[in-house]
Amino acid sequence: MKPILINNLEFAKKQEAITHSIDVDSCERLLDLLETSSTLPRNIRYNLTGSTSTFHLPSLGLTIEATLPVLCQRCLQPMQLDLSLDYAYVIAEVEPETFEGDEEIDWLEASREMNVNTLVEDELLMAIPLGPLHDHACKPLIQDQVEKPNPFAVLKDLLKQNP
Ligand SMILES: [Zn+2]
Repeated sequence: MKPILINNLEFAKKQEAITHSIDVDSCERLLDLLETSSTLPRNIRYNLTGSTSTFHLPSLGLTIEATLPVLCQRCLQPMQLDLSLDYAYVIAEVEPETFEGDEEIDWLEASREMNVNTLVEDELLMAIPLGPLHDHACKPLIQDQVEKPNPFAVLKDLLKQNP
């Protein structure tokens, strides 16, 4: 899949906007977290908008709508994960001091060839929950507890094996 490269500073200054889909099967790092053998729907759609007024600095707004097949960590069956994500980035050569520690706004280094697909994939990698679970009680919790080894018991066994 052809990467989408933008000059992010110019994109913001010219207040450009793009809407694209990404082929999930082209996202190699993301595929590692997905239940790829499942026939559940999979798609990623994003909208990137440049602005100079939102923070009085060149900035980008990114929204991602993704449907991804993952493995429920309770019943170990495939489940559909729907994500609706929203990000804001200030574009600058160096991190603006005023935004340090502001969790609502991220900083992106000014780049003439920023790969938008990589940015979207990066955000999805961080947004996918480590232990996705079905919304419904797919399996009684009591069985869940039996199957999960107690980490302290495991540690005790390890210590016994390696005195
Ligand atoms: Zn489940």
